[in-house]
Amino acid sequence: MKIGVDIGGSHIGIGLVNENGEIIFKEEKYITETTNIEEKIEDFIIEKVTQIPEYNAIELIGIAVPGTVSENKIIKAVNLGIENYEIAKNLEEKLHIKVKLRNDAKCSALAEQKYGELAGFENSVFLCIGTGIGGAVIYNGELLEAKGVPGFEFSHTIIQKNGKLCNCGKRGCFEVYASLKRFKEEVSNEFNLNTIDGDKIRKFILQNAQDIRLKYMLNNYVQDLSIGISNIINIFEPEAICLGGSFAEYNDIFYEPLKKSLIDGNLLFNKRDDIILKLAKLKNDAGIIGATI
Ligand SMILES: [Zn+2]
Repeated sequence: MKIGVDIGGSHIGIGLVNENGEIIFKEEKYITETTNIEEKIEDFIIEKVTQIPEYNAIELIGIAVPGTVSENKIIKAVNLGIENYEIAKNLEEKLHIKVKLRNDAKCSALAEQKYGELAGFENSVFLCIGTGIGGAVIYNGELLEAKGVPGFEFSHTIIQKNGKLCNCGKRGCFEVYASLKRFKEEVSNEFNLNTIDGDKIRKFILQNAQDIRLKYMLNNYVQDLSIGISNIINIFEPEAICLGGSFAEYNDIFYEPLKKSLIDGNLLFNKRDDIILKLAKLKNDAGIIGATI
């Protein structure tokens, strides 16, 4: 038995995972705090792990981190405001169980490759589009990893010169234009919705599909997303791309326009008639499952 923990930009999920990659049970908590986030995360994990009846049989706690991981430390998680955080060491001292950290998009990519939509593809790309945009590349069946530093920061590739300021300190990053959070914030601000609740925004979009301002915003968002994704396709030429994160819940709104924009948008170096664009099968469970692989 292994424990998988998925630290999201705005929530934390914890689950007990069996040897077939199935979640036996899970619990979630929203992160609303803006101070002492580290303490809140650790307390939640310790509380939940010690409550598990199989506590003594747990061989590993795997943690999916929304940011940069190196040498089993969180170097930076910009959307949580966390830096140089030795969560693995702290938890190991308190729980006496081995703790392994991995970037969340890499966890999801591995989970989709082993149990989900990327099974059977030798070369694929996984993109997690939610609070930010995480990414991972499977090449010749293996997860690509850079040496020394984690790499694969698709989110912080620049798609707009002197563009909007990103949490990372640079300007014009892909995620500033194409994360789902930014899109929801823009819709909320434009139409005074006073919420970025995914369900409410989604309903608003579906009910106002003919609104000209909304059409413009949707089109603009899809274009920005296509630019970032086409850059990745041009580099790796994957057989399949899997999209996860809360984006999957908006698939009826974005899937077809995105696919069309990628194929017809004069963005790909090697033109394609079709793109295998998958939606993550494991959805929000991918981080928890992938953290245990
Ligand atoms: Zn950035």
